[in-house]
Amino acid sequence: MKTNVFISGGGISGLLLGLILARSSIDVIVAEKDPKPSVKYKGELLQPKSLEMMNQLGLYEEVSASGFPIHTTSITEYDRDRVMKKIEYRYDVINHQFNKALMVPHEELKDIIRKRAEQYSHFHFLNPAKFTGFQEAADIKKTALVAHKEQGDLEIQADFFVGAEGRISPIRNSLGITLKETEYNHYFLTVTFPRPAHLTEGEMLVRGHYFLGLFPLPNSKVRTVLLIKKEEYKEMKRAGLESFYRCYTSLKPELDGYVQEITTWKDIQLMVPTRHNADRYIKGNCALIGDAVHTVHPMAGEGMNLAIQDACTLGEMLSHMYKDSNLDTGQLTEYERVRKPRAEFLSSLSHLSALAYSYWQGPWPNIRSHVLKRIEHVPTLHYKHMLNISGLGMWKDTLLDRFVQIGLLPGRILPKVNGTEHQYKKHDDYPWINEEEWK
Ligand SMILES: Cc1cc2nc3c(=O)[nH]c(=O)nc-3n(C[C@H](O)[C@H](O)[C@H](O)COP(=O)(O)OP(=O)(O)OC[C@H]3O[C@@H](n4cnc5c(N)ncnc54)[C@H](O)[C@@H]3O)c2cc1C
Repeated sequence: MKTNVFISGGGISGLLLGLILARSSIDVIVAEKDPKPSVKYKGELLQPKSLEMMNQLGLYEEVSASGFPIHTTSITEYDRDRVMKKIEYRYDVINHQFNKALMVPHEELKDIIRKRAEQYSHFHFLNPAKFTGFQEAADIKKTALVAHKEQGDLEIQADFFVGAEGRISPIRNSLGITLKETEYNHYFLTVTFPRPAHLTEGEMLVRGHYFLGLFPLPNSKVRTVLLIKKEEYKEMKRAGLESFYRCYTSLKPELDGYVQEITTWKDIQLMVPTRHNADRYIKGNCALIGDAVHTVHPMAGEGMNLAIQDACTLGEMLSHMYKDSNLDTGQLTEYERVRKPRAEFLSSLSHLSALAYSYWQGPWPNIRSHVLKRIEHVPTLHYKHMLNISGLGMWKDTLLDRFVQIGLLPGRILPKVNGTEHQYKKHDDYPWINEEEWK
């Protein structure tokens, strides 16, 4: 079997890359091992940059119709039963067409992308089909070996091979690409259930070591994540579901009567947060995208967005190469040059957010809520924070910012923003395309 690009993994990143290539008339095979949609919870929060990319692909209307918009996320920090601070972060501080986020059920989003891709004759979806290795050991690969349920063992020849298999990536392993890994001192329990009608924006509630995130979904549902200590999981299971319900209702009494819709531990997914970053994104004629190349702590809701943005950048790069009839693999470094710094920046931001909630003793909660309030209150800091998590741009904190965050300096000494500073332009996203081509 022959194709131009072989993609191992039909998750969000593999399908999206498949769609982008197929619409550029590049022949692509996507192999997905799982026969059925996963019942596991995965990323559902689409940040503004991902929405912009969905729009460029003509998918925004459909995705938007399946999603629930989020304009603000509030953080309520309790000291026992007293509200210590209430902080609200707003996407509309960014002057951009897509200054909001969208909650979309993960499998529905994959379905939209796959169905659109299947409209192109150059898109081929092998399912269930598992990538098992390469025929050759050299850096330039020629043949992928795939075990297909109906067609048996397949040999697939391609110009390029992409690992999009998620955190355990056989392509990454065959390339000998190594990972830098971080573990955390907590777990998350995640579950979706019906929501009270007034819960229409993102909310985070924090008391002691508990952290509860609530993100509304369409169809009057809410996706929730509860941070617990590692050692607590077994205790909670032993104590029964009542102890799980109590965590929710003590942080948000309005959830009483809703969280009880969860009637078995089987419906509660344990999420072990990890962070890894690969030392390289490409090798020879192979590339890695999504969780295969980086996973981030889920606190900032970035993992799926990084996967989407990798797929868009690599897709545009490969489309450009085929259009120019120049398949020199050296050009793939452009993909790594654009994506690696952005992904590592968001990985470090997610890591910082995780650390902020990993310590709950002594003065730490007070310091954290003070800093978060300052970020909300000082317009430049608020803009920077939202810009960075939106993926629409990058503006790193300076030493001056840190002094303002802790209150040692007043906010007015920071430069004023008009709302578009440090946003990525087209040539930042796709530096290999010259200005003339955009026109
Ligand atoms: C519980 C949870 C909550 C999360 N919440 C968020 C969130 O709110 N926001 C956010 O942005 N991100 C979130 N994430 C992260 C997000 O889901 C991932 O970053 C995203 O799904 C990565 O997409 P991917 O395509 O790279 O990998 P995956 O979604 O893991 O897809 C990989 C696919 O490859 C297939 N595969 C694996 N091995 C093979 C093989 N050998 N051959 C063929 N196919 C193979 C798998 O079956 C799978 O379908 C969350 C993750 C989890 C687990």
